[in-house]
Amino acid sequence: MPSLESWIRHGEELRRPLIANAKLGKSEKVVIVGGGLSGLCCAYRIAQKRPDISVVIHERSNRLGGVINTWQEGEWICDLAVNATRPHPAFWRLIKDIGLSEKFSPSRPQAKSRWVLLDGKPHKLSWRTLFKIGPLKLRKAIKNSRAGGRTVGQVIPHKPIADALCLGIVNDTSDNVDADFLLPSLTRFGDNPPIKRAKLTKLIADSYPLFTPKRGSIASIDGGMQSLVDALVTALSSLENVEMRLEQEAQSAQAVAQEYDIAVESVIWAAPGVQENFTESSLSIFAIGYREEQVANVKVGYGTLIPDSQLPISGILHESDLHHSQRCPEGHRLFRLMVPHNRWDKDEQKVIQCAEKLLARDPVLFVKIGERKIPSYSPGYMTSLNQLDKDCSFAGWSISGVSITHVVDEAERFAELF
Ligand SMILES: Cc1cc2nc3c(=O)[nH]c(=O)nc-3n(C[C@H](O)[C@H](O)[C@H](O)COP(=O)(O)OP(=O)(O)OC[C@H]3O[C@@H](n4cnc5c(N)ncnc54)[C@H](O)[C@@H]3O)c2cc1C
Repeated sequence: MPSLESWIRHGEELRRPLIANAKLGKSEKVVIVGGGLSGLCCAYRIAQKRPDISVVIHERSNRLGGVINTWQEGEWICDLAVNATRPHPAFWRLIKDIGLSEKFSPSRPQAKSRWVLLDGKPHKLSWRTLFKIGPLKLRKAIKNSRAGGRTVGQVIPHKPIADALCLGIVNDTSDNVDADFLLPSLTRFGDNPPIKRAKLTKLIADSYPLFTPKRGSIASIDGGMQSLVDALVTALSSLENVEMRLEQEAQSAQAVAQEYDIAVESVIWAAPGVQENFTESSLSIFAIGYREEQVANVKVGYGTLIPDSQLPISGILHESDLHHSQRCPEGHRLFRLMVPHNRWDKDEQKVIQCAEKLLARDPVLFVKIGERKIPSYSPGYMTSLNQLDKDCSFAGWSISGVSITHVVDEAERFAELF
């Protein structure tokens, strides 16, 4: 059973299994497949703790960072994937350790509001949302979910709201998403903390370096999330025991072990797609900008989730409202549009027409900034992780949880094995 100290360090992450080979911690050389945030953090934490161990990052593409990248055109700045982090002390520790403290700040409190578009009208998500779902029905559904293996749709018995939540996080609808994987603290997956939740929350709050985040707040980095990758790569470059190899596609953990002449238990697979039935969904990301007066009617906020599958856009994020640092030219506002491919026929005109209806006509900027894939977490996914063959160890968002906090904390848990 994890100690109280461990619960304070990792919080609810301890509900999730760490898929580690029992001999990993005895390795003299570790090869990490995948140089996304997960691979970079595992390398950084292990190499920093054990300068006597050599650590190699083995990355398929010609750049590090994985899905994280920040698009920039003049003063317009927009993240392609993650744009901000929810609170977790492991993320705050990482920011401090890699020297990003000065560039890291809470998002603007006036941009907290989130809406869900139901029957064409925006509804603010708040405790009142509970009444839309039905508090008693919700309570019963949450209680039932503790038996395990439920979908998010079964735990949140209001389809449009459950769909909006899932679309906003995993680009999928609630009937296809494993509740244990997305909401383990709600379904009480895994171990429970040794003390009452309120007391643990207080101890965790006291453990943050830099600043204690306010409840429900998020935080971001000046210049976008690419700054995080750049700082991590700089930190890794300064460590003598780390090697970063690009354009190296791994076929399997066994093949990597053979190539580097190490035992397979010294490989950490930090790339998605290890499970036999692994699937992904894809989406396109657009940046759209306006002069302030054009969008004066659009309330300042975090963004709007759109469960209606007839519309190509599933989410609008108010990038320039949200971040502390400037994301667009003075006197303008920037929004990011999420467009799942299963709702869209690739006709960009349909995206702009939909955006013009939801925001305002004649944007001064409209550009597709990229495409991304997101792992699918079908019902029973979390339980299936424990059944993975642990010849090597597995990390990253197809294992640890969807958010960067999961990935960053998991890297600390791996380093604790050394
Ligand atoms: C659109 C979008 C929005 C998001 N929004 C948020 C958010 O708001 N908040 C949040 O916390 N998180 C968000 N996330 C999730 C977050 O970005 C991820 O949790 C995190 O970046 C995953 O990092 P990773 O290293 O696990 O995976 P990846 O970034 O996928 O990295 C995996 C790496 O492995 C490499 N690779 C793959 N196969 C091989 C192979 N065979 N050999 C060698 N290398 C290989 C890939 O090239 C890649 O570099 C979002 C993600 C997306 C796509």
